[in-house]
Amino acid sequence: MLTITTLRQKFISGELTPLQFFDDSIALIKKDNPDINAFLTIFEDARTEAEVATKRYKEEGDKAPALLGIPLAIKSNILIKGKIASASSKMLENYTAIYDATVISRLKAAGAIFIGTTNMDEFAMGSSTENSAFGVTKNPIDTARVPGGSSGGSAAAVAMGAVVAALGTDTGGSVRQPASFCGLVGFKPTYGAVSRYGLIAMGSSLDQAGSLTNNVADTELIHNIISGKDEMDATTISPDTYPETPLKDTYTFGVPRAFLADGVDPDVLVSFEKHIELLKSQGHKVVDIELPLFEKGLAAYYIVMPAEVSSNLARFDGIRYGLSAGGDNLLEVYEKSRAAGFGDEVKRRILLGTYVLSSGYYDAYYGKAEQARDLMREELAAGFKNVDFSLTPTRPTPAFKIGEKKDLLSLYRQDIFTVPVNLTGVPAISLPMGTVEREGKELPVAVQYIAPHGGDAVLFAIGKKVYDQRL
Ligand code: GLN
Repeated sequence: MLTITTLRQKFISGELTPLQFFDDSIALIKKDNPDINAFLTIFEDARTEAEVATKRYKEEGDKAPALLGIPLAIKSNILIKGKIASASSKMLENYTAIYDATVISRLKAAGAIFIGTTNMDEFAMGSSTENSAFGVTKNPIDTARVPGGSSGGSAAAVAMGAVVAALGTDTGGSVRQPASFCGLVGFKPTYGAVSRYGLIAMGSSLDQAGSLTNNVADTELIHNIISGKDEMDATTISPDTYPETPLKDTYTFGVPRAFLADGVDPDVLVSFEKHIELLKSQGHKVVDIELPLFEKGLAAYYIVMPAEVSSNLARFDGIRYGLSAGGDNLLEVYEKSRAAGFGDEVKRRILLGTYVLSSGYYDAYYGKAEQARDLMREELAAGFKNVDFSLTPTRPTPAFKIGEKKDLLSLYRQDIFTVPVNLTGVPAISLPMGTVEREGKELPVAVQYIAPHGGDAVLFAIGKKVYDQRL
């Protein structure tokens, strides 16, 4: 299996050059992308960077920057200067970014090559990439199924073998969930660990950028490059302000049993129990814990998130950015542009968000949801006094069929294990834990480790021990 580390090793030894790899990746994308639809745009002109990287490896060898010549795929809600950042919306179909997101400038400085932007649910709202204005992305493992979402294009780009790593964003699970459906490692950092400057905002108090990779070591490498204080995002924090989390040989995992009782696919549960056995066989302790408020996470998320969506998306008014449908007066410009530019799911969330924020309802809905969020944080912090990690499946089911989830609430329910993590701001990693068989195909399922605030490094340490060492 190719990872950033193995690829870099080949570049250093000369067994493969960045230029050869770039050309192979472009050829593969051209062959498979018309069917998979992982990429919205391909940057063939980046070939010149691959040429430069090839020369630099000859001169610099292992002194070359960490990501030199490594092609990455970038979710299309992350700004790359001079490139279209559409967030898979008609609203921004022709919007060209005028600056680099901080995550992009940091990856560029480390030598990465951006090979294309990826498809997603419009403005990151969804769990299947079926809400894109530019068509659904197929899961490369079974093309009748969704790759997950909203970073489904990024996950499919890695799973189809076009890149070894991709960047996504996670507001309620959008990196971890597609990682789960596509058999990859997906990481949601501590809130504030990674700058949101240059990310097209969905829910500002929830959004974080994270990577989709083939192993944990690559996730750690990318995180260490993109994270850290950024003066362009006042919510960023420096890792040295985190509480010390000493690395240990064995850890205690807490399973919120009651939380798993309802609606989890029996095959996913079997796989989850096997993972618990694996942890025990490695000397870790696995105990039951109670996090009763976590079950309220979904309800709180589907109030807080649309509220933030409704205010963040107010800027798309037909005047300042993207699509403008014209009109006889200002109100008509707003109405026509927003009616034409946004898809159904985005409109639904804006309506809901505007409602929960309106005077008279604010206290009953938004205020309550924020209170629930505070209590969840307290409950989780108390839980972490006794355990190092909380352990859940990432998703209640394996990848579902394209078009299968017509009932919106059942789709929203899929977020049950991931949204509490964003609401409480803690980090979590999704690791493949096995496969379940459906119609002759082996579909990946995943486990989620949740760490206390600032526990990003300890997640990498345990992830490498449990996952990477078995690869
Ligand atoms: N599936 C969730 C939603 O639709 C999460 C989205 C995300 O993390 N961007 O809101």
